[in-house]
Amino acid sequence: MAKPHPKKRDPARPALRFDFNAAVRQTRHEYPALRKHAIFINAANDNWQDIEYTLDRLDVDEEDVESLHKTFNDARRLKTSFHVPMTRGGVEETFSAVVFHPDKHPLYGTERGIVDDAATFDHETGHALTPDLHGTPAENVADAYAALRHLQRSGGEAESLEYCSWKRAAVFVTTGVPTHLTTFTVDKILCDRKTADFMTLTPEETAAIAEEYAKLNTPPKKELEALAKNFKPLKRLPLKDAFKKLARITFDADDDSTTFYLGARVLQGALRDEGTVFDGHEIKLEGHQWDRVRRQLDKRLDALPKNHPLRRFK
Ligand SMILES: [Zn+2]
Repeated sequence: MAKPHPKKRDPARPALRFDFNAAVRQTRHEYPALRKHAIFINAANDNWQDIEYTLDRLDVDEEDVESLHKTFNDARRLKTSFHVPMTRGGVEETFSAVVFHPDKHPLYGTERGIVDDAATFDHETGHALTPDLHGTPAENVADAYAALRHLQRSGGEAESLEYCSWKRAAVFVTTGVPTHLTTFTVDKILCDRKTADFMTLTPEETAAIAEEYAKLNTPPKKELEALAKNFKPLKRLPLKDAFKKLARITFDADDDSTTFYLGARVLQGALRDEGTVFDGHEIKLEGHQWDRVRRQLDKRLDALPKNHPLRRFK
């Protein structure tokens, strides 16, 4: 007897809640290698004893299990997600733990909920697909993968990704930590989305294209260090003062420098009339001083070539 067709969701009525189990099923179906080399953990619901039992049976390195336990607790405490690479006895390939928890402060758009949850899940899956990468290159692949999946899922919705890219830049300029600086990669995907055919890629192609975008658009280590140095004066300043200093650093930089690019990108997002949100803080830059900054920034951006990425985010 033929199997009954699975119930199709009415596309006119989008799902209201992220379905973790369905996402795991789909991912394991799309990437058979992950069935063998990854475990997906829902930190909000799963029980540590059950996970520990599974890892034990898979002969996962004891120290790795211990560090995963700590990560599992961190995910619950901080309300955020992680990817943890681990080793199994007698198995050469890295074994991945994707630890998912809905974000306390969303990254893919300012709202908590299904869009951010799905993209967070994809980001960590992007790590599991490239488990031997580390640091900034790994984060660029993960965000590129999540960006492509989001575009495919949403039919090209860009606002959530523009926020992701903005927030990655804002975190970098205010902390000086370059690990999650993925702005150049995500912006390139946003710029290319209308001309490149991201929608019809197979899962394997999507993963390969994400790696390619990351490779081509992640600044080299030396440049990351130079950027961190340029934005160092912002470190540990109250947000309002940090933005003032950011304006000064941005306007002092050359138009074609990455310092100008990041500074302008962060200012653009913060200077929106409706303001924005940054890890729970409302940001609204108002008053004569900020009107002047807005005019000066517009002037600099208007002088850039017509197809310059920064002009697309205006
Ligand atoms: Zn990551």
